[in-house]
Amino acid sequence: HRREFLANVSHELRTPLSYMKGYAEGIEEGIIDQKKGMQIIQDESTRLSRLVHDLLDLAQLEGESYPLTMEPIVFAQLIHDVLDQMTFIASQKRISFNRELEEDCIIYGDSDRLEQVVRNLLDNAIHYTPSGKSISIELFVHQQTAELRITDEGSGIPKGDLPHVSERFYRVNKARTRKDGGSGLGLAIVYQIIKKHRGTFVLQSEQGLGTTAIIQLPCADSTEDSPTSPKNKITP
Ligand code: ATP
Ligand code: MG
Repeated sequence: HRREFLANVSHELRTPLSYMKGYAEGIEEGIIDQKKGMQIIQDESTRLSRLVHDLLDLAQLEGESYPLTMEPIVFAQLIHDVLDQMTFIASQKRISFNRELEEDCIIYGDSDRLEQVVRNLLDNAIHYTPSGKSISIELFVHQQTAELRITDEGSGIPKGDLPHVSERFYRVNKARTRKDGGSGLGLAIVYQIIKKHRGTFVLQSEQGLGTTAIIQLPCADSTEDSPTSPKNKITP
């Protein structure tokens, strides 16, 4: 596993580096259009720094001692915030969000980390869904558990790949074309963060129909009297 991991890491690091080197040389020799070459170098360096950031993040999350800053969170508000940040990217693909969120659901968690979870899931939903479709985001509570469902109308994930997509570097499209540019770390990060929150993360998918990501997290205990917890009734 370790050897495979290192092979993946070095491949992922080397590819953007060799692109940058190649394009820089091409520009210097005057055989590549300067503007186009510069753009590619910029894109590749953005990709590379994201990759390094994600890798370090994952290594920390997989360690035992990673601290989470736990606080009561109005889950719907956190989801609204991420959706608002991502509306522009979605609109560029003419993808619309349908939200149906139970507004007074309170959970206990690390808000930065949970934002990262919602962002990674939405990022996939947008990325693997054709233009003009919609993504539904639902949040409801049952039996003291908050359940978030993000459903897209995208390509879906083949049955054989489904059990593996949360593994580091696993991608259905192994070709890793420059345009279709993920590194396969997003879901591994989601999985680790949710595990650290004692929640569950499941993907359901039907090839050609779409995918639903389901996150379940325990609701904050209503009897707990935290000064920061909003005056909402969680249980009747
Ligand atoms: P990264 O998130 O690191 O930028 P990535 O999107 O390829 O890269 P993951 O988010 O971990 O990595 O997803 C792993 C793979 O699972 C994807 O490459 C894709 O093949 C598949 N996948 C994930 N979400 C969806 C989805 N909503 N619809 C279709 N396929 C998906
Ligand atoms: Mg992703």
